[in-house]
Amino acid sequence: MRHHDLVIIGTGSGNSIVNHRFDGLDVAIIEHGVFGGTCLNVGCIPTKMFVLPADLVESARGAARLGIDATVDKIRFTDIRDRIFNRIDPISAGGRDYRINLPNVTVYEGHARFTGPHALTVEHTDGSGTDEITADKIVIAAGGRPVIPPVITDSGVTFHTSDTVMRIDAVPDRLVIIGGGYIGTEFAHVFSAFGAHTTLVVRGPELLRDHDATIRERFTALARQRWDVRTHTEVTAATEHDGVITLTLSDGTTLDTDLLLVATGRRANTDLLDVDRAGLATHDDGRLVVDDQQRTTVDGIWALGDISSPYQLKHVANHEARIVKHNLLHPEDPKRTDHRFVPHAVFTRPQIAAVGRTEEQCRAEGRDITVKIQAYGDVAYGWAMEDTTGFCKVIADRSTGQLLGAHVMGPQAATVIQPLIQAMSFGLGAREMATDQYWIHPALPEVVENALLGLDLA
Ligand SMILES: Cc1cc2nc3c(=O)[nH]c(=O)nc-3n(C[C@H](O)[C@H](O)[C@H](O)COP(=O)(O)OP(=O)(O)OC[C@H]3O[C@@H](n4cnc5c(N)ncnc54)[C@H](O)[C@@H]3O)c2cc1C
Repeated sequence: MRHHDLVIIGTGSGNSIVNHRFDGLDVAIIEHGVFGGTCLNVGCIPTKMFVLPADLVESARGAARLGIDATVDKIRFTDIRDRIFNRIDPISAGGRDYRINLPNVTVYEGHARFTGPHALTVEHTDGSGTDEITADKIVIAAGGRPVIPPVITDSGVTFHTSDTVMRIDAVPDRLVIIGGGYIGTEFAHVFSAFGAHTTLVVRGPELLRDHDATIRERFTALARQRWDVRTHTEVTAATEHDGVITLTLSDGTTLDTDLLLVATGRRANTDLLDVDRAGLATHDDGRLVVDDQQRTTVDGIWALGDISSPYQLKHVANHEARIVKHNLLHPEDPKRTDHRFVPHAVFTRPQIAAVGRTEEQCRAEGRDITVKIQAYGDVAYGWAMEDTTGFCKVIADRSTGQLLGAHVMGPQAATVIQPLIQAMSFGLGAREMATDQYWIHPALPEVVENALLGLDLA
């Protein structure tokens, strides 16, 4: 039984905690998978590296409206894939080597489980045995994993998740994606741009169900033009013959596909960590309960990122890791997590980004709001792009001018929204934001300026 001052479980955002300020401590890091976590290896970074070439393909296909007749001769999928992973894999390996060579850090490559509040067993990934360890302080940064509906697992058909689909060898002719959230719609964009006939099967009436209604409705309408979108539909059975997967749908029809991607959501990894043995409290969905200092319900144990956060986002996991790092080093002066204005983006096509409340949430709260939807096509750069579908929707409190939410759909939405995130975070009112600064003409953020100017403020 070895004792450490600090144990960190998971090398995603958890890995960023340890720096020179921990040099005097005996630190252990436990990782059962690939070093670097979800974002680097199977999440944000590779997906967006696939989205960029997909965007280029679609831009070429749409260039005729700008007077350029372009065709895409060939998509070298394995070259695209290898460019991405030949960049990412060495970063992961380098991160592992760096940690292994630090004199005060022990890297355990295995699966951690709690055996008590401050005790863990680590089952080596290579099957060579187990270690029993204890620690004064533990940080749980063990993330989450895809949830697979029983109808798929029970049927025994071949399926992919976001963990595996980016390493395939060829673009399938037919792709069915179960799920219409951000992962499903990002992969639908990528694989359909690369030539797969793409079908999305979703339970609800629209795609991106957590979004503002204007985004949901307009995006779903556009998606139907590009993909076969089956709303109000569930998979009730699945079979596989000669490499073709046949799904039976709740409307009685069947759907054949060459590749099945399950993107029906993710859950926290708490169950596989035996957190109950440590006495750690969890929410109904499996996430660890933490307070605003990222403390769990057990003294000396902190958690961060997807295993505990209501937001499954890398920038949130990183923020929470910075809070944990500070609170480990300065327990006498703890910092608190700031979840007030958490933005997110969906790198599908058109791109989507949002921050703050939806219009429905504001109305449900009984707020007196003013809402403006400004089309990209109303500003000069939107004309240049011949954009017909992009928009920026801003929601503000009518009497105070305080921004309550922003929802953008269109080219570079994730970039266009950033000044609105900044304004909300620093309490800048909509009117001051619109009028007390220059907006570069004729740049795309003029769509934000005009949306703000269009608010009916008291
Ligand atoms: C396809 C996809 C696309 C995404 N795109 C974006 C995006 O564009 N923007 C964005 O902000 N977010 C995105 N995300 C979400 C983002 O990746 C996560 O929010 C973030 O990586 C969470 O970080 P984390 O440190 O909490 O967990 P992780 O990065 O998942 O790290 C947890 C680590 O713990 C390890 N682990 C788990 N259990 C154990 C155990 N018992 N023992 C030992 N090790 C264990 C895992 O192997 C993993 O390495 C995406 C996610 C996916 C799946």
